[in-house]
Amino acid sequence: MQAEIIAVGTEILLGQITNTNSTHIARGLAELGIDSYYQTVVGDNPHRLADVIEIAARRNDLVILAGGLGPTKDDLTKQTLAHYLNVPLVTDEAAMQKITDWFANTDKPMTANNRLQALYPQGATPLTNHNGMAVGAFYQSPDSADFLLLPGPPREMTLMFDTEAKPKLQAAYGQQAQIYSRVLRFFGIGESRLVTELQALIDGQQAVTIAPYAKTNEVTLRLSAQAATKAAAKTELDRTEAEIQARVGEYCYGYGDDNSLEAVVVHRLIEANLSITAAESLTAGEFQSTIGSVPGVSAVFPGGFVTYANAAKHQLVNVAQATIDQAGVVSEATAIAMADGAKHQLATDTALSFTGVAGPEALEGQPAGTVWIGLAYRDQPTVAYEYHFSGDRQKVRERTVMAGLDLLRR
Ligand code: ATP
Ligand code: MG
Repeated sequence: MQAEIIAVGTEILLGQITNTNSTHIARGLAELGIDSYYQTVVGDNPHRLADVIEIAARRNDLVILAGGLGPTKDDLTKQTLAHYLNVPLVTDEAAMQKITDWFANTDKPMTANNRLQALYPQGATPLTNHNGMAVGAFYQSPDSADFLLLPGPPREMTLMFDTEAKPKLQAAYGQQAQIYSRVLRFFGIGESRLVTELQALIDGQQAVTIAPYAKTNEVTLRLSAQAATKAAAKTELDRTEAEIQARVGEYCYGYGDDNSLEAVVVHRLIEANLSITAAESLTAGEFQSTIGSVPGVSAVFPGGFVTYANAAKHQLVNVAQATIDQAGVVSEATAIAMADGAKHQLATDTALSFTGVAGPEALEGQPAGTVWIGLAYRDQPTVAYEYHFSGDRQKVRERTVMAGLDLLRR
């Protein structure tokens, strides 16, 4: 069972609106287990619309058209489809009643084109529009593809699709084998290396497809399995995940689309009831801002320090001037002193410190991208790690924050 979604509207082609309708419909199709291999966008032009209808009908079992059901001259979807199907448009009496009632209750005159909104292709099942006037339609054809007609305004489309169309699709086609996905999240390994490590798995993939996706500072892998039941899919996904974990598991920090590294780290701190603070030089508060974006962090984060200048390192977190003079500001000793000082000032369980060269200029003879991150934890000896990040100033600062989070998860 294979479907194509056609969004109709010149404003989509011009980039004036985002095609959220197709996204919503695509999710619904996935839930029904209906494959969607193509999404098309076409302008309000009858010839091009007729072309895409014909192409879509040839290569699919179901074609979904959204947009262009309104009363104006550029709304041509119904007419074009009826012409393709070689059937007349007929009136949905209930919809017509609603339109005449609405105009009876206002002082606006009802113009003839408003009747268009109550029309649907003969032989189809009309679909009620609970948020507007234009009726939709589900047309089942014995010899060509089936068609679903939906209005363009998202409020109207989503309600009609969810409440009117989906039950009819399910009744017509039954529940098809569904696609189940699992997202694995990685940090500290680039996309190209991840793919290289997993090449054999990716090339040999059968039941489960593996799709990598690189974001600014992390990579995700989406595993997808098509199966009749969730349990069957889980077995397949578990098997593939085990193979992935065996190869690159040390970089995998979590699951899910919305589970950022900071969310995973903050949740762990909350679960373990460990409070945290930070003294930040080159990141100037970006680490604290990042953990601050996770709801619930206040349970473990009392506050912290932005210690940009040496004087602030001394005043706020008690770094001795002698430490900076002897070791340098970008050094293991300064990072350790900052983490110790921060932890002491706010009496937290743990503290991170960040000192380094964001660039573009070198500092103390150290090139841009040189960073020390200190980690103080309860009574254990405080440690600091050295990094050499590439990228511009902003990248170096972002990578520093991510590396700090990564230290906490380990
Ligand atoms: P109307 O009766 O309002 O004319 P219609 O069924 O003819 O409805 P369109 O004219 O194609 O639909 O679109 C109406 C409005 O709905 C557009 O101006 C746009 O704001 C929104 N819209 C249309 N298509 C989409 C889409 N694919 N994604 C998001 N919004 C859309
Ligand atoms: Mg319109």
